[in-house]
Amino acid sequence: MIQDTLQKRIYLSPPHMSGNEMKYINDAFETNWIAPLGPNVDAFEKEIAKYVGVSEAVAVSSGTAAIHLALSLLDVQKGDYVFCSTLTFVASANPILYQGAIPVFIDSEPETWNMSPQALKRALVASSVDGKLPKAVIVVNLYGQIAKMDEIISLCNHYKVPIIEDAAESLGSIYKGKASGSFGKFGVFSFNGNKIITTSGGGMLVSDDVEAIKKARFLATQAKDPAPHYEHSSIGFNYRMSNILAGIGRAQLEVLEERVQTRRILFDRYKKELSSIPGIQFMSELEQTVSNRWLSVFTIKGKETLHSIQYIISSLSEKNIEARNVWKPLHRQPLFKGNKYFPHNENDSISDRLFKFGICLPSGSNMLEEEQDRVINCLKKALMETII
Ligand SMILES: *Cc1c(COP(=O)(O)O)cnc(C)c1O
Repeated sequence: MIQDTLQKRIYLSPPHMSGNEMKYINDAFETNWIAPLGPNVDAFEKEIAKYVGVSEAVAVSSGTAAIHLALSLLDVQKGDYVFCSTLTFVASANPILYQGAIPVFIDSEPETWNMSPQALKRALVASSVDGKLPKAVIVVNLYGQIAKMDEIISLCNHYKVPIIEDAAESLGSIYKGKASGSFGKFGVFSFNGNKIITTSGGGMLVSDDVEAIKKARFLATQAKDPAPHYEHSSIGFNYRMSNILAGIGRAQLEVLEERVQTRRILFDRYKKELSSIPGIQFMSELEQTVSNRWLSVFTIKGKETLHSIQYIISSLSEKNIEARNVWKPLHRQPLFKGNKYFPHNENDSISDRLFKFGICLPSGSNMLEEEQDRVINCLKKALMETII
């Protein structure tokens, strides 16, 4: 036991610096651009927009801030409805509450674990009958896997509801040749410390609507009207990214492709080593998509699986290895008690099953081979003990 706790902790998804970060940070210091604007911010925005293949991007303080700005730009107000994937981190939906709007949660479908087009359709039909269509649909790309965008876009276009693509976990993923983040009216990225690339904390809002991003920049900088004094006619936020952090982001973006490749190789290794164990199923990859495999995730099926999942997570934890449950669906959170929920089928909630049976494994791109061995050996032991 003492031996184990002395072993270095293996985290779920720690930061992985490229070595070039200090160059951009030093530039910022040498030119005294220690501010929420400056050359690194401008360049990082242009580089992300180019990478994703969209017209414009605005760098902000977090992914959550980017979602909040998108909702503000779509004029989401008190009492409006916003649809949102249920199987996600709470940050996807919190900004709906900031606006005083009402979230309605949409289940996953089994292939991508993301928003179920058939549940979305039922929700749109129901809200259209009530004459209260949502102001926006927030579609999340879980763990790097992009949702069934063709189906979702065609439904949203039919009802003329704009999409916000929460691509916080899917920077670097591809769907039918197009980059994640480029599918909605707005795309959102996060550079939190645990994401595939990081600025320690930060986010980006992207769009092909140049005017909208211009307005986002205005709102994110305290909404200062053009005047010689401070003049304000709308609610603003202090949401811009610092020029120092944007420097970290620029160096990180240079190695994004490598990071995707490394995470994909790790996923394949886990899959190869563990798939032969009965009941184990790794998250699949939809045809014509490339997932960045931000996290390696699998489900297990068997007797008393919920107990097994907790047993496996705590066995790994005892060996100083961080593993986690799949996101607890938002329609199950006390915060959203009473909010409407549309399951995949009337009596079949896919997200509830994924939460119950799923485990996220350490997936860092800087995990050493012997650390991978440690995780795999410990997992095999725990799985054997619990399933068989
Ligand atoms: C991380 C994350 C966010 C929030 O990003 P922050 O930069 O931490 O605010 C939003 N949605 C999803 C799905 C995330 O994983």
